[in-house]
Amino acid sequence: MSQARIIDGKAFAAQLREQVAADVANLKAQHGLTPGLAVVLVGEDPASQVYVRSKGEQTLAAGMHSETHRLPAETSQAELLSLVERLNDDPAIHGVLVQFPVPDHMSQAAIVAAISPDKDVDGLTVTNAGRLASGLPALTACTPAGCMVLLKDVVGDLRGKRAVVVGRSNLMGKPMAQLLLAADCTVTIAHSRTQDLAAVCREADILVAAVGRPQMVKGDWIKPGATVIDVGINRIPKEDGKTRLVGDVDFEAAKEVAGAITPVPGGVGPMTIAMLLANTVSAAKRLNGIAE
Ligand code: NDP
Repeated sequence: MSQARIIDGKAFAAQLREQVAADVANLKAQHGLTPGLAVVLVGEDPASQVYVRSKGEQTLAAGMHSETHRLPAETSQAELLSLVERLNDDPAIHGVLVQFPVPDHMSQAAIVAAISPDKDVDGLTVTNAGRLASGLPALTACTPAGCMVLLKDVVGDLRGKRAVVVGRSNLMGKPMAQLLLAADCTVTIAHSRTQDLAAVCREADILVAAVGRPQMVKGDWIKPGATVIDVGINRIPKEDGKTRLVGDVDFEAAKEVAGAITPVPGGVGPMTIAMLLANTVSAAKRLNGIAE
């Protein structure tokens, strides 16, 4: 059996960022509009700091307005919510993103509920989740939207394909399943209570793993020729005492069976921020009545 095509998420993301930058340049020239993204970070989680820095840098690199609000871990929820409200009302800002996780004394649900659905570039509000599920235009969670870009390119016509999504989070699994359904796949959502997960996965022409368990999906869970999208980002120890990133799929075994597969790192990850930029541009257009 030949080896799987390795899906180069970095290259796809670079292409998408170029499109976004061209779109931004047009918006500026034709409408005097500069899309703006505000990212809020509470506390000092090291991984979140890296993500937030990259988001700011890439927003600026696309020619957009970028604001990063760094708040101390002891910030009260009321203070955070009042910042979110201020950003909701700020005409220079079209996307508002609060980086999760937030400290334990805050409610993630209350924060999401405070974000204006029109500026919810992470697609997390009930309004956007409902719009997606109802087949209406919505701001869609960035990582699933990025996975769809990869799938549409690699698989082409998705109609009638058997898709299995492992994971049912609001951020990842559920919107992923909705997007696949909207693309006319036959979709199964698996989770921690699914019985015989290996057999369920083996039915998939398209297998999306969004679990957060290192290398859980084994090579013999994969249907020969399937397209495997590995969303997981897990840090595991190496023999030399350092750590390395792995996905939710046992990549080495899976690439011997799959038709195409995303690596970790360099697969889905780079698409997420690129989609965030694209969502911010979409939000800016909608807020200003400009056709997409
Ligand atoms: P969550 O922890 O919110 O959800 C994990 C899901 O996996 C849950 O639905 C859970 O099921 C399911 N699950 C857990 N254990 C098993 C198991 N043994 N068998 C089957 N299903 C299981 O995580 P997220 O959805 O936020 O993220 C998933 C992964 O994707 C993480 O590694 C995260 O780091 C990564 N990620 C990567 C992004 C990127 O940019 N590449 C962006 C977002 C996430 P149940 O509901 O039953 O508990």
